[in-house]
Amino acid sequence: MSHPTPAPTPERPAEAVARLRAAFRTGRTRPLAWRTAQLRALRTLLTEEAAALADALHRDLGKSAYEAHRTEIGFTIREIDHTLEHLGDWLRPQPADVPEHLAGASAWTQYDPLGVVLVIAPWNYPAQLLLTPLLGALAAGNAVLAKPSELAPATSAVLARLLPQYLDADAVAVVEGGVPETTELLAERFDHIFYTGNGTVGRIVMAAAARHLTPVTLELGGKSPVFVDRGTDPQEVARRLAAGKFLNAGQTCVAPDYVLTDPETARALEPALARAVEELYGPDPATGDRYGRIVNERHFDRLTALLGSGRVVTGGDSDRETKYIAPTVLADVDPDAPVMQEEIFGPVLPVVTVPGLDEAIAFINDRDKPLALYAFTDSPAVRERLAAETSSGGLSFGLPLAHLTVPELPFGGVGESGMGNYHGRYSLETFSHRKALLAEPPR
Ligand code: NAD
Repeated sequence: MSHPTPAPTPERPAEAVARLRAAFRTGRTRPLAWRTAQLRALRTLLTEEAAALADALHRDLGKSAYEAHRTEIGFTIREIDHTLEHLGDWLRPQPADVPEHLAGASAWTQYDPLGVVLVIAPWNYPAQLLLTPLLGALAAGNAVLAKPSELAPATSAVLARLLPQYLDADAVAVVEGGVPETTELLAERFDHIFYTGNGTVGRIVMAAAARHLTPVTLELGGKSPVFVDRGTDPQEVARRLAAGKFLNAGQTCVAPDYVLTDPETARALEPALARAVEELYGPDPATGDRYGRIVNERHFDRLTALLGSGRVVTGGDSDRETKYIAPTVLADVDPDAPVMQEEIFGPVLPVVTVPGLDEAIAFINDRDKPLALYAFTDSPAVRERLAAETSSGGLSFGLPLAHLTVPELPFGGVGESGMGNYHGRYSLETFSHRKALLAEPPR
């Protein structure tokens, strides 16, 4: 069997898709051995090239080496290890019972690869959010075209250089670029499109996919609320909230977006949040090396315009030159203030007060379904009510962001926060067709 040789980069989208499709049609991507070899190769890339990746992440987002490892490189390695450990089991055909009138026949399901998958990634975790769907699609036996974000150009360039070196370059292609290149890509026929980013572009992706009847996964964002109940320990809540909120300078799709609490709890939480920020980043976060920067001037300007939406409890200062915005907590925020109108996606945490749980639930349900909902409460009854009476991609009690690190949990949104999900075996579900098989008894 002869395989097409990889074309020199940059490759036109149509050429790349044709090349990947030809490779997929040879059947080379189906065997478990090919899939696990790709995952191991990606693991090797992440370990051998960790320094190059961390450097690129620092150039794009001022990401510290600690964050680069924890949230991008190490995160992806753990996902690879989990998949390698279980893939053989997950792929085993699943028997199904047959009804009376088919007695003697056997029925089962098997996972078939879909074909050529397009993965479009955003800039905020530019390595993890390209590589985790990519490895899921490879584990499912697909050829993959990866489109990193042009807003994280250093990471995009490193991945475009390294992925074809380490992986099967006939079956994995990287196309770099922004809107024109992505538009060109979206004109092609794919067998699945996996998009992470904002809902406006999500709609463009879905409309383009509809022309070819291509299924999509849309990993979008939105405002992820945090409910803080009466009687919780303010300092402990503040510590966890600040750690989740200010990671990557707040540019995390599941970052706590705003706090909903009663006025008395808010009064205790405000100084506690100021202390927690200082514990995390020192008295001046601008001088330490643990705190990130805003991705570009456009987002910097958008975010600094939100700083007047309430009383500044801590932070509030910024520097356009270095794209620094201090970890900021705003109190007495009106629900109609600008900061409450759209996903903040930066280091500004508004505290909005409501009389109690009923009003908090109504507040959440009056708005778009969040990607994540967080609650700090020691009451099992409150937990039950939040689980039963609200809808969100994920719900986590007391542990902001951490649900993403559980590979046995599906990660994805609902409603405006997206459709479909992935991680662990859910990636296999997403990137496969579950085929029904029925066989008459052997004669
Ligand atoms: P972005 O600007 O990097 O865009 C994402 C991708 O869409 C990029 O590859 C970009 O090239 C492409 N794109 C942009 N405009 C396009 C167009 N007109 N046509 C075709 N393609 C286009 O990232 P972003 O949207 O600024 O990312 C931030 C958003 O993503 C936030 O809302 C955040 O919550 C969400 N997000 C969600 C997740 C998740 O896992 N659910 C993760 C990270 C970010």
